[in-house]
Amino acid sequence: MKNETGVTMAPLPCIFCGGKGKDPFGIMSRLSDCPVCLGKGVVQVPVPYVACAHCQGSGAIKRLTCTVCRGKGRVPAAVGPTIVCPDCQGTGDDSSAPAMDCLTCRGRGRVAAQ
Ligand SMILES: [Zn+2]
Ligand SMILES: [Zn+2]
Ligand SMILES: [Zn+2]
Repeated sequence: MKNETGVTMAPLPCIFCGGKGKDPFGIMSRLSDCPVCLGKGVVQVPVPYVACAHCQGSGAIKRLTCTVCRGKGRVPAAVGPTIVCPDCQGTGDDSSAPAMDCLTCRGRGRVAAQ
């Protein structure tokens, strides 16, 4: 399946809620739908993908949805060669505020090789 921009998408179990479809942190209510998969338990992710560096593939930063992968835990794989981001050493975290994503690599942990 391809989305409107021609990126191939594949369904994967939602990592944020463990595929249960309910908000894992119960911020609104334990019965609330998961904000990432909207209660479906499945998310569409771009293919090929890599684990999100900022949230280490968990989809969550503390109890909030990761802003880099929007809670999916995966980000589109970069096209072409990449190197570890020199500013965050690959963590995807801002050095002064780890809950924020690194501006250099936008939370990916890797940047394009020059
Ligand atoms: Zn979910
Ligand atoms: Zn993430
Ligand atoms: Zn970085």
